[in-house]
Amino acid sequence: MKTGTMQDWPLNVWKLIDHAAINHGSREIVSLTCEGQEVRTSWRQVQGRAKQVAEALRKMGIRQGDRVATLAWNTHRHIESWYGISGMGGVAHTVNPRLFPEQIAYIANHAEDRVLFLDPTFVPLVEKLAQSLKTVEHFVILTSREHMPKEASVNFLCYEELLAGEDADAPWTVVEETAPSGLCYTSGTTGNPKGVQYSHRANVLHAMAANMGDVLDIRSQSVVLPVVPMYHANAWGVPYAAAAAGAKLVLCGPNFDPPTIANMIRKENVTLTLAVPTVWLGMLQHLEATSGDLGALKRVVIGGSAAPRAMIEAFEEKYGVDVCHAWGMTEMTPLGTLGSLSAEAAELPRAKQIDLKCKQGRAIFGVELKLVDDEGRELPRDGVAFGRLLVRGPWIVASYFKGDGGQILDADGWFDTGDVATIDPAGYMQITDRSKDVIKSGGEWISSIEIENLAIGCPGVAEAAVIGVAHPKWDERPLLIIIRKEGAAVSGAEILKYLEGKIAKWWMPDAVEFVDSIPHTATGKIQKTALREQFSGYKLAA
Ligand code: AMP
Repeated sequence: MKTGTMQDWPLNVWKLIDHAAINHGSREIVSLTCEGQEVRTSWRQVQGRAKQVAEALRKMGIRQGDRVATLAWNTHRHIESWYGISGMGGVAHTVNPRLFPEQIAYIANHAEDRVLFLDPTFVPLVEKLAQSLKTVEHFVILTSREHMPKEASVNFLCYEELLAGEDADAPWTVVEETAPSGLCYTSGTTGNPKGVQYSHRANVLHAMAANMGDVLDIRSQSVVLPVVPMYHANAWGVPYAAAAAGAKLVLCGPNFDPPTIANMIRKENVTLTLAVPTVWLGMLQHLEATSGDLGALKRVVIGGSAAPRAMIEAFEEKYGVDVCHAWGMTEMTPLGTLGSLSAEAAELPRAKQIDLKCKQGRAIFGVELKLVDDEGRELPRDGVAFGRLLVRGPWIVASYFKGDGGQILDADGWFDTGDVATIDPAGYMQITDRSKDVIKSGGEWISSIEIENLAIGCPGVAEAAVIGVAHPKWDERPLLIIIRKEGAAVSGAEILKYLEGKIAKWWMPDAVEFVDSIPHTATGKIQKTALREQFSGYKLAA
């Protein structure tokens, strides 16, 4: 017999929400909405309303494989429409509203989005863009009639009216598990963004893996607050994983300010929260200034950029919260590694554990990692050799949407992440840089991330960025760019003194510059290309 004798049960994403509705139906989803309300709903209600969305889309003539976009914050309505789109065979395209308007128009046209669900926040933006969104036939505002704009240049539909009267028990559309269910564009810093089209299967497998104990460890008793937005790689898959586990979800809508997030963490007894480091920088400053606490919070997951050691220590030592690094990318659905402690690491002294927590973690089951040099030769897992990080697995991109970028896998199916990393004998991977940000000095590589993350620990430093600037002898040398904390007067010499002994002598920045702001990308990463432009022609003292 060629096959096993088990059932063929396609891994459709709507099975996640069905499971949540049947087995954890009353578990809450709490949302802060754009209208300033706090709405409490449940997995059962989200399932019913997602089915109403699916019905409404069918009536609009949306067919299997069509793209339906969302321009929205994390709210119950966003989750309903997201499950509803995929549940009728459509492809949920979560658009990042922080992109430049021209980029939003580019990706909506490239994706050929037929419907756009938007939050009331984005009415002015969409009014400006509507003419250039060539394929969008319907614009639906995720709100009720009373909050619809009184006058508008676009024929906006009202979400609550669209759902009213639709069947909350309508069947889902059964599609093959390899069919597309979602679409996210990479926040490419150069060239046009490229689309990653997730399959139902990839999302479901990723959700199951995300819930493993050494990964996000989401359970039915968990209360999860993904600060990371759904437009950033599906909020790292949390709304799928939380449904599979039956966890309570807390969503902060358009609010990213530390007081609101801290308040929701305390009030809703949040046990797990996830965001990029810039969010946590602001949170730690807020907690320090207000002598606040983090209630029942057990674990904070930090990803998207490297978390500085000082941040990890502050969460663990001042607030008693376990910090876990997560690494991944839009092309990986997005989780690749998690920084939970291995059995051996759990026995180590505290300082050594923090050393490990500064690394990006170990591969999740389902993700293979490999390091290669520029000639493609595999490098040892000795924690020292650093090279290009390649990945392979069932939720990793095989090609970009519409074939953009051509062939992106090598002959053995490996995808080059564009990251440079080390992997130690215990399997802990550490990102040293994006390959285009690494500083090449005298034929050797200097990790900009490592210097940045140490500099952040220096008293008086609020944020740090390191770029390579041209040097006549060494090719490139590091320039350290600093934002001081409010009221601080720390000098360049003091910062360099602080770094002494913490990094190799030849890694020491040649100069320190102070700025008022450091540019960030639409997903909260330091925008090195903009900094390199800002400091192009920078002359290092001889
Ligand atoms: P994105 O697709 O926007 O999530 O960006 C993915 C990229 O973000 C990765 O290739 C890394 O360069 C970076 N990244 C993600 N997580 C981490 C992390 N924990 N530490 C350092 N860099 C990270």
